[in-house]
Amino acid sequence: MTTKRAVVVGAGPAGSLAALSLMETNLFEVTLIDRTTLPKTKPCGGGLGPSALNHLRMIGLEPKIMAEAYPIRGARFHTPKGRQVVLGGNAVAAAVLPRERLDLVLAREAERAGARLVEEWPVTGVLTDEQTVTGVSGPKGEMEADLVVVAAGGTTSLAGGTFSRLQCIWQQIEGANYLPGTIEMVITKKIAPWYAWLFPEGQGRANIGMCCIAGHLDRNGLQETFDQICDEQLAPALAGTTRGPRRFMGIRTSRWPRLANRPHLWVAGEAAALTNEATGEGIGQAMISGRLVGQAAAHWDDRGEEGARKLYERTIRRTLGPGLGSSILIEHFAASPALEATPRLAKGPTSALLSKFVTRALAS
Ligand SMILES: Cc1cc2nc3c(=O)[nH]c(=O)nc-3n(C[C@H](O)[C@H](O)[C@H](O)COP(=O)(O)OP(=O)(O)OC[C@H]3O[C@@H](n4cnc5c(N)ncnc54)[C@H](O)[C@@H]3O)c2cc1C
Repeated sequence: MTTKRAVVVGAGPAGSLAALSLMETNLFEVTLIDRTTLPKTKPCGGGLGPSALNHLRMIGLEPKIMAEAYPIRGARFHTPKGRQVVLGGNAVAAAVLPRERLDLVLAREAERAGARLVEEWPVTGVLTDEQTVTGVSGPKGEMEADLVVVAAGGTTSLAGGTFSRLQCIWQQIEGANYLPGTIEMVITKKIAPWYAWLFPEGQGRANIGMCCIAGHLDRNGLQETFDQICDEQLAPALAGTTRGPRRFMGIRTSRWPRLANRPHLWVAGEAAALTNEATGEGIGQAMISGRLVGQAAAHWDDRGEEGARKLYERTIRRTLGPGLGSSILIEHFAASPALEATPRLAKGPTSALLSKFVTRALAS
């Protein structure tokens, strides 16, 4: 058994967990590269849903993350016809943690496991020998590797593939007056089935944003619609707040995993479009795909690179395929009359059942 070299490009949730899980195989020397310095700001809701929390629990990091995160017990939905419904209960169902903290904790875990973190090292290309990838290159030089993991997020040109794009607007706010432990989800006619959100982060801090499929609105339309939601549905929470600059971002999404892997180059996280097209959620899938990199690479010696790569692709499809595919159901629900019926169901004897159903649906 010889030690192999792995280079992981991108110290986001996918990259850090890929580095961590590759270290755990005891087969690889791992270098985790990022183009920036940690901690870095990443425009993101920071929402950790039930599946992301489950995964953190499974790998023993939940206590560390929950010690810093803001716990979420419910969600207030605003329907296109102006109805409101709060669903949830006493149990913690989700959490919000700003990405500069989440990414830092995960990268430190990878380092603790023995990965070498290299910051300020932008990767601009991959080295190849005929069809095989042999490393990465950038303005600071070249790094050779037996395995390159591209976990460089939704804007990377290092991994192609077919994907859709959500367009988003995002803003950080201070002094918000939100319902404790409750996220706000606003669906209006202009953006349905997509939505605007307010995610509380604790002590009056929150982030707000809006997403819809790329091309649905132009940049002016996006701003106007977002302003209108801030002035109407979110006005009570936003009165008197200080707001940071607005950021515009895209999210690479898909409804089924189609990884643009090549011999000795595996793609993980949003670079592989493993982000839900209806909700824009991708942190959980990024972490899970990172873990699956290590679990599949553990079979490198007995199955060879190709066998391990195929195993990675199969387990990604089996584990993340149904969740990504569920975006079709979510989109239909959010655009259907059933959404308007939800506030009525939540008031009657069906209320407990509905909360349970929504919690279970989110958890799956
Ligand atoms: C506005 C917005 C809100 C969102 N809200 C949520 C949410 O609430 N919950 C949720 O689950 N998901 C959310 N998402 C999606 C989520 O942010 C992504 O799916 C997730 O960050 C993907 O993780 P990743 O590790 O694959 O990529 P990233 O988090 O993008 O990490 C990629 C890393 O690679 C580095 N990198 C990029 N290019 C290079 C290069 N060439 N060389 C070296 N390093 C490089 C970057 O600096 C970065 O650190 C949101 C996205 C947006 C845009």
